Amino acid sequence: MPAKKSRVVVQTAPRALEMRELPIPEIDADSALLRIEACGICGSDAEQYTGVLPMRLPVVPGHEPLGIIERIGDRAAKRWGVDVGDRVAVEALIPCGHCRACLEGRYQVCRGRGSMLGHGYVPLSHPPGLWGAYADYMFLDAHSLVHPIRKNLPASIAVMFNPLGAGFRWAVEIPRTGPGDTVLILGPGQRGLASVIAARTAGADRIIVTGLARDAAKLALAQELGADFVINVEEEDTRKRVKEITDGRGADVVVEVSANAAQPVAEALHYVAPSGRVVLAGVKGFKAVPEFISDLIVVKEVTILGAFGVTSRSYESAIRLIESGKVPLEKMHTHDFPLEEAERAIQMLGGEVAGESSIHSCLLPDRST
Ligand SMILES: [Zn+2]
Ligand SMILES: [Zn+2]
Repeated sequence: MPAKKSRVVVQTAPRALEMRELPIPEIDADSALLRIEACGICGSDAEQYTGVLPMRLPVVPGHEPLGIIERIGDRAAKRWGVDVGDRVAVEALIPCGHCRACLEGRYQVCRGRGSMLGHGYVPLSHPPGLWGAYADYMFLDAHSLVHPIRKNLPASIAVMFNPLGAGFRWAVEIPRTGPGDTVLILGPGQRGLASVIAARTAGADRIIVTGLARDAAKLALAQELGADFVINVEEEDTRKRVKEITDGRGADVVVEVSANAAQPVAEALHYVAPSGRVVLAGVKGFKAVPEFISDLIVVKEVTILGAFGVTSRSYESAIRLIESGKVPLEKMHTHDFPLEEAERAIQMLGGEVAGESSIHSCLLPDRST
């Protein structure tokens, strides 16, 4: 008997999550129903939870879905090249396909439907409500973007397509990283570590990662995953260390993926080499950046690049890397949670659970208590 209802975690207000049940909708020729195997927990989930990231509520969060196609319409099956029983990674954004940004291949900034539309962000009031992956089932819209991914990998590893896709886009695709480049990554969270893996895969010459004293374990892992140097910014003079490592030049590429702190954005301009690229991907709650010296951009001819979301191309790079089995990704995966513990999962990633810290973690809905 096919399921008639899906459990969902609903966010009703900042720091307020509750479990509900929603009816499973009919599927038309252009849509599909996904049985969620895993949903990655993202830094932006913590910002959504606390209210730093404004959101239309109530909403079912979860924008990093991995699952099995449970039902699918004929046209959707043809368009996506997948069928019932296939495992797919789903992109967060649901582009309109018609606006100027979409037509120019920049669907990360699609605003064709009035605002950003994506899994985990469409409010519950928008039928059929099952838009987020903190759930047993999720609805796939005609414009959802899916990528087949091999089934014989643990769901908690396969679902890393999301942070790894971000690593490929932010540390490689956007700054055009290649052999000869020194890449400096500010922040050793899951996106920072994914950036290490991506930059290594792209053939970067030297990779440097910075972190705080409390990040010691993450910095050690960064080295295992391919970083050549790590810097504890609380104990070392980072500007001096970067100069030493790069023979006085600075880093060709600086990737800023730290959460909340605005200061690394200003610091990045001191670390970057002349003609270098700075990628800004960590959001700061719309705070201004103190001590931001724009003259450094002028005199060094620095290019500053904003990074929001991931492209299909980078998701594909991530999926191929996961399927290759070449990188010990399991070392990044620290926690699995059942759906009922969504709140704890978010709080742990946000550093709110004393004595515990997660790097990559995910919800596994069928692992229920
Ligand atoms: Zn995310
Ligand atoms: Zn669009």
